[in-house]
Amino acid sequence: MPELPEVETIRSQLAPRLEGRKLVRVEIFDPRLTRPHDLFEVAEELEGDTVVAVERRGKYLLVRLESGLGLLVHLRMTGSFGFVPVSHERAVLELDDGSRLAFRDVRRFGTWLVLEDADLEPYLAAKNGPEPLGPRFSADWLAAQLGRRKAPLKAVLLDQHVVAGLGNIYADEALWRARVNPLRPANGLADDEVRRVVRAIRAALRAGIERQGSTLRDYVAPDGASGSMQDEFRVYGRDGEACTRCRTTIAKTRVGGRGTWFCPHCQPLPM
Ligand SMILES: [Zn+2]
Repeated sequence: MPELPEVETIRSQLAPRLEGRKLVRVEIFDPRLTRPHDLFEVAEELEGDTVVAVERRGKYLLVRLESGLGLLVHLRMTGSFGFVPVSHERAVLELDDGSRLAFRDVRRFGTWLVLEDADLEPYLAAKNGPEPLGPRFSADWLAAQLGRRKAPLKAVLLDQHVVAGLGNIYADEALWRARVNPLRPANGLADDEVRRVVRAIRAALRAGIERQGSTLRDYVAPDGASGSMQDEFRVYGRDGEACTRCRTTIAKTRVGGRGTWFCPHCQPLPM
């Protein structure tokens, strides 16, 4: 699933091509994309409107329109945008410069939701905690969130209300950087460990953004280019390989049903 760096990469590529453009024709082919709302009604709401900004909040893309409406897109497992026609198109936006932007989604879990200006912020605030690269995501905030949960640390970090945009990949990468084991009880971290986790989450996400996200399975950025972050992963998907810091073999376990990779030496479980 695309995480913050992948969604941010898509945002940064869509923004210059969408901002200021009128949506001259909107076609939605898949009722699952807009349900419970009728796909024709959603298409009609969007058609004729002009894009003023493309923003990101957590893993959501927000296309702000001149009318005050906002189109909230969640890519889920396999959603992606592209300017070249492909299979599995679920919707198409035709722009007033003649370009054609398609939304592709092989597994069809992606969602499009159109909201009024006044409803956007409350909706997003209910779904997302602080942005990890913003000022509200602090060691104090994270310590308070972790302090009331006994669940494994990684499971708590995947809660979008704790930190927006973090997912399975970058949580593993961040905990390796922080040298904290993903299975530790969330409320058992020392203050300096919480500070390390905050810094590591920021560093892991920034590294991902710099490399234009990762290319995994069906994710491709709108310009058709592939990200390179998957070549830089230190633990994610690397069980059996040597830790780049200590040469210990990377181990794989499961946390909350999700595949989880860590270095048993750098990230020990306290005895
Ligand atoms: Zn190691």
